[in-house]
Amino acid sequence: MATNGEAKQNQNGRHQEVGHKSLLQSDALYQYILETSVYPTEPAPMKELREVTAKHPWNIMTTSADEGQFLNLLLKLINAKNTMEIGVYTGYSLLSTALALPHDGKILALDINRENYEIGLPIIQKAGVAHKIDFREGPALPVLDEMIEDGQYHGTFDFIFVDADKDNYINYHKRLIDLVKVGGVIGYDNTLWNGSVVAPPDAPLRKYVRYYRDFVLELNKALAADSRIEICMLPVGDGITLCRRIS
Ligand code: SAM
Ligand code: CA
Repeated sequence: MATNGEAKQNQNGRHQEVGHKSLLQSDALYQYILETSVYPTEPAPMKELREVTAKHPWNIMTTSADEGQFLNLLLKLINAKNTMEIGVYTGYSLLSTALALPHDGKILALDINRENYEIGLPIIQKAGVAHKIDFREGPALPVLDEMIEDGQYHGTFDFIFVDADKDNYINYHKRLIDLVKVGGVIGYDNTLWNGSVVAPPDAPLRKYVRYYRDFVLELNKALAADSRIEICMLPVGDGITLCRRIS
């Protein structure tokens, strides 16, 4: 169990969750959530992976601990068994998924970069859940196209987590709506895009934030207008939009 002291491992006592700090109006409130609900209940392998990932130069990409906790609980609530993840990085959300699924659960995990997945893999193996993961290196879109063409994957996924190239989310949605089962859920991550979705036009945004913002805005509009799904946009992590397929 992590203690308050442990959560204060940072010199100034503040959390080290990356990339998500500013969405809650109060950083102290976020720290409170982490210390009271998230860190004390975080499974040991997830803590280990979070700490290993924190040392990696691209750690801003990792899923935050509170979002990892949310995904883990959500998957249990919907009794997910057959899942997909697009965008793995070192595997924090993947591990939170793998730990939530039953022993015979499955995760098709897609990422263009296997090297980063291999940072987390020994921890995932040690946790005894690696057998649930089918990792495929390469761009996700052609894999989705193959599955659709194949025909046997239509409506087969209980849950799909999308956390990869934001400029392709609309393209993913066009395919995933076919692959997720009716009643199943797709989660699109980073839909509040560091709060930039409400930034004024002249706001000093980082280059990549500005570039992807228009794609995120377009996605958010498209999801709200899509009558095949029911949605809920949650301010967890960097914003996650849950879409339940209804037809
Ligand atoms: N879910 C991960 C976690 O919990 O740490 C974070 C994923 S990170 C934000 C985005 C990932 O998407 C990167 O690992 C990147 O290599 C991957 N990616 C980018 N473009 C991709 C594509 N076209 N197909 C599959 N993966 C892609
Ligand atoms: Ca993310």
